[in-house]
Amino acid sequence: MRLSKMHLKTLREVPNEAEIASHILLVRSGMIRKLVSGVYGFMPLGWKAARKIENIIREEMDNAGGQEIHMSAIQPAEIWQESGRWYAYGPELWRLKDRNGRDFCLGPTHEEIFTDIVRTDVSSYRQLPMNLYQIQTKYRDEARPRFGLMRSREFIMKDAYSFDADFEGLDKSYNEMYDAYERIFTRCALDFRPVEADTGAIGGSNSHEFTAISEVGESEIAYCENCDMAATVERAECIDAKPENEEMLTLEKVSTPGTKTIEAVADYLKIDKNRTIKALLFVTYDNEGDVDSYVAAFVRGDRTLNMVKLINALDVPEHTIEFADEEEMGYETGCVGGFTGPMGLTNCKIVVDSELVQLKNLCAGANEKDYHMINVNYGRDYEGDIITDIKTLREGDPCPECGKPVKHARGIEVGQVFKLGTKYSESMGAMYKDENQKDHPIVMGCYGIGVTRTLAAVVEQHHDDNGIIWPMAVAPYHVIITLVKPNDEIQALVADKIYDTLIKAGVEVILDDRKERPGVKFKDADLLGIPVRITVGKLAVEDIVEYKLRREDDKIEVSVDEAISKAIKIVSDEK
Ligand SMILES: [Zn+2]
Repeated sequence: MRLSKMHLKTLREVPNEAEIASHILLVRSGMIRKLVSGVYGFMPLGWKAARKIENIIREEMDNAGGQEIHMSAIQPAEIWQESGRWYAYGPELWRLKDRNGRDFCLGPTHEEIFTDIVRTDVSSYRQLPMNLYQIQTKYRDEARPRFGLMRSREFIMKDAYSFDADFEGLDKSYNEMYDAYERIFTRCALDFRPVEADTGAIGGSNSHEFTAISEVGESEIAYCENCDMAATVERAECIDAKPENEEMLTLEKVSTPGTKTIEAVADYLKIDKNRTIKALLFVTYDNEGDVDSYVAAFVRGDRTLNMVKLINALDVPEHTIEFADEEEMGYETGCVGGFTGPMGLTNCKIVVDSELVQLKNLCAGANEKDYHMINVNYGRDYEGDIITDIKTLREGDPCPECGKPVKHARGIEVGQVFKLGTKYSESMGAMYKDENQKDHPIVMGCYGIGVTRTLAAVVEQHHDDNGIIWPMAVAPYHVIITLVKPNDEIQALVADKIYDTLIKAGVEVILDDRKERPGVKFKDADLLGIPVRITVGKLAVEDIVEYKLRREDDKIEVSVDEAISKAIKIVSDEK
């Protein structure tokens, strides 16, 4: 491709709302173009890079036995009502009506559609196992789209669904997809880590998230360097603190004026925060938007409540719970903002972190302004409706597997795999007959990769101050020939020769033949991040050109033939 003919508009300025490297560089290099908040279009170079990622995914999915299909983004509401997700998915589901008032949504994921295909087409065990996938545009009405392609409202996703006769088959399908994902992200040159994850709105029993390590990622993971424990922080189990061997002391009410926070009350009573009980107040809503219940959650004062664990414990959709208005909840349940404790609450669900059950003589709010209770003990003084682990595993806490201190890292979720089991096949009636004509629900798994988010993650991990540094396998072009003086006949001839020879060898080449100053061309070449640059300048007359890799600082002067053979070799080695 001659750059003079390419539709390319690079920007010198950083877009206002862009905060992270991938967003800034993809916009500045003219690869993506914002339409409205969270909605981006792809220009020629950006689209080529996206297609490279798609094709890596396609090859590995096909090798793992997947069959590609393509379903509509538009899905009728009825099918989501059948699975129960029309309501459970909440406001992120992009809903619309046709001219007759019939409800539809723009699919954020396609479990229902694929389940519908197999319930219609599969009847016998002989048709199983099967793996269907698509690479398709998805929609999510994000409350706060940001970071360019990282959290957008329209995005390209690969979603695959496996169908097996039993759970043993599901385990095999799941492991095959897990292995395919490792190959895909390795080929995309990502530094990634598969970690155990929560199943969220998709449901099912087991899940792994594939996380591209990055400071700007929205996923926080906990991992252990001593064993193979690795999980998202939402998912990671916590070990309860070991109780001291203490006698229960007499419960007492003490005056603690103005101590509305854990810090303040611990200071006032001169005790450690880990001797206190922290209260967090929530309200859940029903289908109609009316209050369903009030929830008081209690963790040790120095802990952080884990919202995902709380939501799982309550078994409510994520969008139906929010922080309670203290005054309203106080009126209904008897709690007092800043002085809430687990004793004497009425008309509310009490969720107690498992750790608190063992710990003795703690301090908790007295549900009375300016008072706390001391020597509070579970069982004797209060009880919970739900007792489970609702705390967050912090950096340095003991590893749930081996007890050594865990580490935290941030990352970008580029893929996730789920063992769905029979959640969808049972709710939607996707059954098959075994050898004895007996009916069974089909056992399912589902497997997603954010194609456009992977593209952003690649840029996030491969860039410098001057621009993108594409890994060869996903680079929109392999080589850029920078022609210093397009008007110089010899330079133009040499550049054309390199260009034609490389194209014949199957190398994807850009020839920068624009009538621009050399400085502009070098800046653009760095910004676009094409892996190999061959500069044709005044030494062309002596058959010498400059050869440079984008990822290295050094440039070397070599003969034209040597530049060509070096380029062909590195492209075939790395693409
Ligand atoms: Zn460990």
